[in-house]
Amino acid sequence: MDLIYGIIVIGGGPGGIGVAVESKILGIKKVLLVEKSDNHSQTIRKFYKDQKRVDKDWQGQSVVLDGNIDFFDGTKESTIDYFDSLLDNHLIDAKFNCEVDKVIKMNDIFEVYTNCGNFLAHNVIISVGRMGKPNKPSYEIPVSLRTQVNFNLDRCGNDESIIVIGGGDSAVEYACELSQSNQVTLCYRGESLTRPNPTNIEMFHKFVSEKKLTPKLGIDIESLENEHGKVKVIYTDGTSQTFDRVIYALGGTTPVDFLKKCSVLLDDRGEPVFDENYETQIKGLFIAGDIAFKSGGSIAIALNHGYKIVSYIMNTKTKEDSHYPSLSPSSMEAYI
Ligand SMILES: Cc1cc2nc3c(=O)[nH]c(=O)nc-3n(C[C@H](O)[C@H](O)[C@H](O)COP(=O)(O)OP(=O)(O)OC[C@H]3O[C@@H](n4cnc5c(N)ncnc54)[C@H](O)[C@@H]3O)c2cc1C
Repeated sequence: MDLIYGIIVIGGGPGGIGVAVESKILGIKKVLLVEKSDNHSQTIRKFYKDQKRVDKDWQGQSVVLDGNIDFFDGTKESTIDYFDSLLDNHLIDAKFNCEVDKVIKMNDIFEVYTNCGNFLAHNVIISVGRMGKPNKPSYEIPVSLRTQVNFNLDRCGNDESIIVIGGGDSAVEYACELSQSNQVTLCYRGESLTRPNPTNIEMFHKFVSEKKLTPKLGIDIESLENEHGKVKVIYTDGTSQTFDRVIYALGGTTPVDFLKKCSVLLDDRGEPVFDENYETQIKGLFIAGDIAFKSGGSIAIALNHGYKIVSYIMNTKTKEDSHYPSLSPSSMEAYI
């Protein structure tokens, strides 16, 4: 508890890794990354299928990297290897299996409360993502169907009839992957797919024209029922179909309760309020990664958040020190 970190970053996904690595590169020595799971990048490990193509320009967003961390197209595996090497090469102090409960600021210092002890910091960056709570449909999922109704591919096998629900890149990628060894329908309420990036749109049309994938567009689902252990999907036009498995790929939910516990101001949609430097209404408390987006997200943009935040912290600190020359350089030394 005596040690005061320059930065504590909550969440070991791309946003958190970006902050931690940029901090080291830009000169903040005392940095702690806190991750609730047993390793970094849980969204990538849990929601990306094995060998998934990882696009730098995800969802058609062309991103220029601003900071010191490079990022490039690859696969799930090469991306995890790359983040492993960033953490190793920059000697990032990380605590895994360490879940943050809340953050409280007192006398200009933040206290970060976790299940593995409490830590102090001058700045805290919250980068906990949205996939801790995947979006669910508005209708109830029958309890007896919970093993067949999934939000990632962990339980999928072969030779099943599967309906994938969603209209974004993840839905298309899940559907095309599963259709290699299953009978797959992709259901989206819009008349056509507009959100996925051009590569995924092209892949979708190719799979459909080769009859590997059945599209079911322009229709929504009203409810699910258990029909002799299978999932009966009832559509809004009154028709129905039965599948072995349902996969929802609907993105994730903003962790409102956690943000409230950290006293972050939320707007009327429940999204965190922050300025152009990603700083919340509490000085020194920042938001990075997916939760700084209105919807969606991107690894490259999450890395850019890290650079912007750390550069801002370094600049502000330097300016503050020059306003109080008697505190420099020893205060700066204590700070970093
Ligand atoms: C199926 C799928 C495919 C995708 N494909 C691509 C792609 O090809 N290219 C691309 O650029 N983007 C892709 N994305 C988006 C990309 O994964 C996200 O934009 C990125 O992971 C966001 O990083 P983040 O650090 O904000 O959040 P996350 O990656 O979600 O990381 C948040 C971390 O915080 C941890 N955490 C949560 N709560 C706490 C707590 N209280 N205490 C401590 N730790 C906590 C979590 O365990 C997690 O490890 C994809 C997303 C999905 C779902």
